[in-house]
Amino acid sequence: MPCVADEEPAPDLLTVRSRQRADALEITEQVQRLVGRSRIGHGICHVFVPHTTAGVFINENADPDVLQDFFTSLDELVPWVKAYRHAEGNAAAHIKASLIGTSQQVPVRESRLALGRWQGIFFVEFDGPRERQVRITVVPG
Ligand code: ZN
Repeated sequence: MPCVADEEPAPDLLTVRSRQRADALEITEQVQRLVGRSRIGHGICHVFVPHTTAGVFINENADPDVLQDFFTSLDELVPWVKAYRHAEGNAAAHIKASLIGTSQQVPVRESRLALGRWQGIFFVEFDGPRERQVRITVVPG
């Protein structure tokens, strides 16, 4: 039988740690590292967040005000306190995660993420702070 350590993380899994209730963490470099390790030169990189109160989006990574405006506008749309039915108290986080979505796809060309010049991949937290996971799948094609 092959000997594999139990604690060895899956090769396609990123662990991220959000710092506050609402947070955006750029993961472009970590995703790129896994794309390089996959040895797939041409295909699609699928980024998936397996959580119900977090998501992933692709947007500008140059001006941090863009992220601030994102959170401010989303809070206006879906306030934290409202007469929600969900008893856990984090209904707003579930709604925001659903609006943003839990996956993104990026073309891979010559083993690099073919993102636009100003684009970055962001894990986005809506009910932190906590440790989260992001699953990366690279498909040749
Ligand atoms: Zn909940």
